[in-house]
Amino acid sequence: MKKVYQKLGLLFALVVMVMSLGACSNSSSKKNVLADDKKSNTITWGVKADTKLFGLMDVKDNQIKGFEVDLAKAMTKQILGKDGKARFLQVTSQTRMPLLRNGNIDAIMATMTITPEREKQVDFTRSYFDAGQAILVKQNSKVKSVKSLNKKGAVILGVVGSNSVQNIKKFASKAKVLQLTDYSQALTALKSGQGDALTTDNGILYGMSVENPGYVVRGGAFTKEPYGIAVDQGQTGLKNAMNKALTKVEKSGQYNKLIYKWFGHVKGFDLKEAYRQ
Ligand code: GLU
Repeated sequence: MKKVYQKLGLLFALVVMVMSLGACSNSSSKKNVLADDKKSNTITWGVKADTKLFGLMDVKDNQIKGFEVDLAKAMTKQILGKDGKARFLQVTSQTRMPLLRNGNIDAIMATMTITPEREKQVDFTRSYFDAGQAILVKQNSKVKSVKSLNKKGAVILGVVGSNSVQNIKKFASKAKVLQLTDYSQALTALKSGQGDALTTDNGILYGMSVENPGYVVRGGAFTKEPYGIAVDQGQTGLKNAMNKALTKVEKSGQYNKLIYKWFGHVKGFDLKEAYRQ
């Protein structure tokens, strides 16, 4: 008889354990990021800090500055009201997805292309900026376009976690691709002659050429890179709020003002193409 009671006790303990585990996973999947952000009056954005024009750390005041940072601030005010706060955490192409999925950030606005691969892991808003992949070379380089890099011995520099290092294989399959940790390291590598060209999106490359007049974006864009804001899968409330906020920022003319502020003086940048309504 005692044994039966012992067995029943064990069974009961097991049932309680399984039920509480179920409750745990339920409560985490029910986490409502938008509701939490409204409570704290803060949205935490993951932005680049190594990418001039989009998100770059200003060492003078320790603030990250760029088009994406300003757009995130404007969208935060649309979502939370004029006293809403935008908090920024720096991400790289490699760290942005894990940081989002671990809950360290609420959303990614970091030059991230909407791709079917990534859509399996995160949810995207509609596109807020349309870029295209290109190459940056030394002004006196013999490289005329991505095609001239498609040969044995050519070295192309890129960044880990970007889709550019994958895409480039289709356009210059014979070249070697060297992947650096972030864009400042990739640029340093190009300047020290470790590669023939650096590849990523044209907007990012323009930022580098503005700072480094001896380097030029050459040959035009060879892919389409629509940037989306990524939120964790299932955060539909937040995603919808972001899409609405983006529309408002566009319709108010704020979006175009920001495009002009950051890209208005960049040689080769097509403002007309970037403007929205
Ligand atoms: N837009 C490309 C990507 O999402 C390249 C820029 C980046 O590394 O963030 O991978």
